[in-house]
Amino acid sequence: MTRKTVRDYIRTIPDFPTPGIMFRDITTLLADPRGFRMCVDQILHPYADQRIDKVVGLEARGFILGGAVAHQLNKGLVLVRKKGKLPAATLSQDYNLEYGSATMEIHDDALQAGERVLIVDDLLATGGTAEAGIKLCERLGAEVVGCSFIVDLPDLGGRERLTALGIAVDALCA
Ligand code: AMP
Repeated sequence: MTRKTVRDYIRTIPDFPTPGIMFRDITTLLADPRGFRMCVDQILHPYADQRIDKVVGLEARGFILGGAVAHQLNKGLVLVRKKGKLPAATLSQDYNLEYGSATMEIHDDALQAGERVLIVDDLLATGGTAEAGIKLCERLGAEVVGCSFIVDLPDLGGRERLTALGIAVDALCA
């Protein structure tokens, strides 16, 4: 019997939400206790010997993962959300999409200067969302020790984009 990998728990839905997009659906991974635990364990593996003060989750699936990772580390979780969702004072960061732009936000008191943060999200495509998250953390004076994803879509160049910023990038599968 071959051992299942994280990749085996994820399904691909063609043409969702628009024609041409191969949507990586992680709900099947989250719904499986072994798959979900394996995923969280593998995200944390490279950071076993490093100090992490906070976990930052990117909206929306990064919240689910970030919650589990933060709980495992016994650290707090910080949310980076789409514009207009966070209730208190925020910092905003614009980023480019294929057509147009979008804005991510963080509460301006969510991180302290010098805190070491791990950013998590489900999937790395162009890297625009993660770059916005990195910039928000850095603008608050935090140090981003890495960005971790379940899936990397390597053809879209996200890893190169984040690596060029000096950020360590980890992904569990492509
Ligand atoms: P990007 O900013 O281009 O790196 O896009 C990453 C964000 O968009 C992540 O928050 C993903 O959840 C979502 N995303 C982009 N492409 C896909 C895809 N093919 N399947 C699932 N989610 C995606």
